[in-house]
Amino acid sequence: MFVLLAVTTLALQQPVADTSPFRALTLPTPTRVRSSGGAPGPEYWQQEASYTIRATLDTGPSLLTGTETIHYINHSPDALAFVWVQIEQNIFSKASITYQLNQPPLHFAGGAVFDFTGKGFIGGITIDHFASGGNELVRTEYGTMMRVELPAPLAPGAAIDFDVAWRFPVPPYGGGRMGRIGNRLYEFGQWYPRLVVYDDVNGWNPLPYIGAGEFYLEYGDYDVTLTLPAGYLVAATGTVQNPTEVWSPTIRQRIEQATTATERVQVVTKAEATANGAHPAAGTKSWHLTATNVRDFAWAASPEFRWDASGWNGIQINTFYRPTAAPWEEANRMARFTIQHFSETWATYPWPHATTVEGLIEGMEYPMLTFVPSIAKREDQFWVLMHEFGHQWFPMIVGSDERRYPWMDEGFNTFIDYGAAEGYFKGTAYGDTVRRELLTAFRVSAIPGNEQPLITKPVEQRDLAWGAYQKPALMLTVLRDQVLGRETFERAMREYVRRWKFKHPQPADFFRTFANVSGRDLDWFWREWVFTTARLDQAADSVRAVGSDSTYVFLSNRAQMVLPLTLQLRFADGTNETRLLPVEMWYLEDRFTARFATPKPVVAVVVDPTASLPDMNRANNRWGR
Ligand SMILES: [Zn+2]
Repeated sequence: MFVLLAVTTLALQQPVADTSPFRALTLPTPTRVRSSGGAPGPEYWQQEASYTIRATLDTGPSLLTGTETIHYINHSPDALAFVWVQIEQNIFSKASITYQLNQPPLHFAGGAVFDFTGKGFIGGITIDHFASGGNELVRTEYGTMMRVELPAPLAPGAAIDFDVAWRFPVPPYGGGRMGRIGNRLYEFGQWYPRLVVYDDVNGWNPLPYIGAGEFYLEYGDYDVTLTLPAGYLVAATGTVQNPTEVWSPTIRQRIEQATTATERVQVVTKAEATANGAHPAAGTKSWHLTATNVRDFAWAASPEFRWDASGWNGIQINTFYRPTAAPWEEANRMARFTIQHFSETWATYPWPHATTVEGLIEGMEYPMLTFVPSIAKREDQFWVLMHEFGHQWFPMIVGSDERRYPWMDEGFNTFIDYGAAEGYFKGTAYGDTVRRELLTAFRVSAIPGNEQPLITKPVEQRDLAWGAYQKPALMLTVLRDQVLGRETFERAMREYVRRWKFKHPQPADFFRTFANVSGRDLDWFWREWVFTTARLDQAADSVRAVGSDSTYVFLSNRAQMVLPLTLQLRFADGTNETRLLPVEMWYLEDRFTARFATPKPVVAVVVDPTASLPDMNRANNRWGR
């Protein structure tokens, strides 16, 4: 007895790992900054960076020269001895990781190509001056990042102004997210030195700009003056402050008309754009723009823009395009539908205008402004135009860390995009089936051994289209349709947007918001979809009639992923019935006996009868005839 007891005690002391798929997810400990319920805590803080920029574009050598004042407020509880600054034009310098690796372009389905090397273009930014209070600051460049020593530690609550002067040659066609076509069209993103985010999770976030990972940026206000040849029209983040100096009376009158127009008003017609492009105007013009509470500023300019505008809910909807871009005749209608759809579904668009520019960039988003190519196929044109506008919600309104978590940016956006595509093409074969692309993508892309968890950093992802875009969209579709139901899902998603609007959420904030708002433990779901590459194989093993009024259906879960199970019962009399079994069916083991009280003989059962799940083996989903 004594011996036996000793053995038992020893056995009890051996640590046994909890391998249940339902074990708790390990999340960072909640703080006063990020609460256990997923909302910003009572001591939530984030830094503030506001910019006053004056830049001049010389279209001869295509050189952009600027001066900039950065007003930086330290809302953190820490004294900062130095700051990190992003100088992303250096992606085109020989010192950049991108140049050293000479990495091949990123290819996406549909033929979009992002060549971040600029097809071998050597450029980069020259910082002529980086000072504070008249004193030049010590700085060290590391490719696209620069560390700047402060004259004295910046105390919590204190602010500092940096005075910067810089210049760079504008990369030609192929520059990934920005660039130009000769001197006929310029699209500017990542163009001025910007403060790196300092947050409560990582401190500074100076992850290099390599290409695939986009941007994690502070919110602030912008006051920007752009000087360029007089014949160029500018489209930009922000509101034009000197309309009488930059727009003709005719343009101003048409813009006014567009404010309440449900269909496009042609602010600059095709004939006018063509004529403008053929006759360069002499001299230069300065455009003064301001923007409030945005995380970046982008702009585009061309002497031959067509410009359509309409209005929705006080928001000016603008589409700028070259006379050659025939598919863009419909772009304004697409843009207006998109802004309305996302506003009504997720959160009201918060800025005075939503503008998209047709050109060389295959698709890129900045606050209030997107860059989109002209695409012949109508569905694809809508998709890219709408997708880039979807980014106004993720990550322009909800400012997550794109350089680490593309699934919270591209992924959430791709999910909401399917709703917009279903709406715009409602009643067509495309509109009614477009979401099923996600299951096709699963079959093509979820290759065991190659697939990586969603949490993988974008620059480490072998299949970014799947890992950053489609899989997260499939994940949220499954969560909405199979786990939570539409109403509960949308309530949680809207609450996440409301809580983190103009803030910096982390993955745990998203998980905790969903758990708290939906009232459901979803740790198992996030583990499967975000942190692992678990696969699904639900199976119908057999069916047995028990007595005269019961049927037992024997089901099994043959792979790692657990999900609720939808079961269709087919009866001898030709009728059928569908039951949704909750995920708790897999609590005890990976086999489950579903018992149904029914006097009607069951002749067949089908698991996932609508084929809505990424089940890796559908051959075992059916029992009977
Ligand atoms: Zn995107």
